[in-house]
Amino acid sequence: MYAGFIREIDSVGRVVIPMQIRKELGLVELGSRVEMFSDGKQIIVKKAVRDCVFCKSETELHEFEGKCICAGCLEKLKSE
Ligand SMILES: [Zn+2]
Repeated sequence: MYAGFIREIDSVGRVVIPMQIRKELGLVELGSRVEMFSDGKQIIVKKAVRDCVFCKSETELHEFEGKCICAGCLEKLKSE
C-alpha cells in the first residue's frame, strides 16, 4: 500500500511534483528551486532555501563562491 503520491519518471529522469504539494510549500513560480538528497533508500526533495552558511539567517545575504553569508556574519568576519 502506498501512502503518498505515485508518479512515473519520464525518459530523461523527470518527475512532476503534485500541484497540491507545490502550493503547500510555495513552489508555484517558474524557477522555484528544490534541493534533493538520497540516503540510498529514498529521495528527499525539499524547498531550496538560501541561508547563511554560519547562522542560517535568510536575510541580507551576500554570495561568495557559491556560498551565502549574512550581513551580520560578514561584519563579524571583518572584525576578526
Ligand atoms: Zn549569518
